[in-house]
Amino acid sequence: MKIALEQAAQMVADAQTVILTSHIRPDGDSIGSTLGLMHYLREQGKDARVLIDDEIPRIFRVLPGIEQIERPAEGTRYTADLLIVCDVELKRTGAVLDAVDAVRVLNIDHHVTNDEAAEYLYLNPDYAATCEIMHDLVHVMGGSFSLDAATCFYTGMATDTGFFRFSNTTPHTMRAAADLIEIGVKPNIIAVAMELKSYDEVMAQVRAIKNLEMFYDGRVAAVFIDEERAKEVTTTEGLLDALRVIEGTQVVFFMKWLEQDTYRVSMRSKGTNVSRIAQGFGGGGHIRAAGCTLHGSFDEAKKTILEAIGEELNR
Ligand code: 5GP
Ligand code: MN
Ligand code: MN
Repeated sequence: MKIALEQAAQMVADAQTVILTSHIRPDGDSIGSTLGLMHYLREQGKDARVLIDDEIPRIFRVLPGIEQIERPAEGTRYTADLLIVCDVELKRTGAVLDAVDAVRVLNIDHHVTNDEAAEYLYLNPDYAATCEIMHDLVHVMGGSFSLDAATCFYTGMATDTGFFRFSNTTPHTMRAAADLIEIGVKPNIIAVAMELKSYDEVMAQVRAIKNLEMFYDGRVAAVFIDEERAKEVTTTEGLLDALRVIEGTQVVFFMKWLEQDTYRVSMRSKGTNVSRIAQGFGGGGHIRAAGCTLHGSFDEAKKTILEAIGEELNR
């Protein structure tokens, strides 16, 4: 059931013990929204913790309290008055959903493709980031942002907007970011930290780009990484940012071997609805940034995704 922000704020206010979680393969917005709200709730005297069922990428070490994010331990039960699932629908939270006994579950998200399965859902697809929602939520709840909370929220807004360059950036996004900068967030420190790569990661990107292929008269740029190549392409972080600059491209994506007959697809577009393509394969996302998982042989998966993209391009 969709609820208003005020109702969501009331649910949070009514809870004393809160568990926050988000999606697997965590990004700046999933980590920023959960960790930032954890800081705020603790400052309000509540008992709050963050559970994420995945490894936290190194670049996020810059965020205050990052070491307090817990990975759910197998066989352990967690209890809370409220479980808040941020930046994703309930089913993509790994083992967390089943490990938590919460009186109520609240979903806060900005993905148009949210399956709306949550009993309580505050969804705002007009916002660039879940952290942008968090900014409003804290305003509704009252009290002030600490620099710790502000730093986390700013990071999610910055990463989900490509540092305020993507089409999802609105006057509200900028005003919310300005509020956080006024509290003391240093945009340069976050930007530098988010861009940081090890030598090995840079070399992995170089190896990935060597596999670049163009399709549909240059409207699509893609990198396909099979099981063999996956050994040397250890990261795809930043790969799509490198592809999107190619003149004439409408859609850029990669397809990477995950495990036996399973491939991860990540897409970016300049207007073509890639979330519809992803949804066709059980994935989701936003119009210009989406992902899904494909099954089958490498050649089948490659053909399938290319055909689906071709169809969407010709809509
Ligand atoms: P990325 O390509 O960076 O992994 O994801 C782009 C966007 O699509 C993000 O907002 C992400 O949450 C969403 N997304 C990626 N993969 C999936 C998926 O398998 N299911 C759903 N529902 N959303 C996804
Ligand atoms: Mn996210
Ligand atoms: Mn997000």
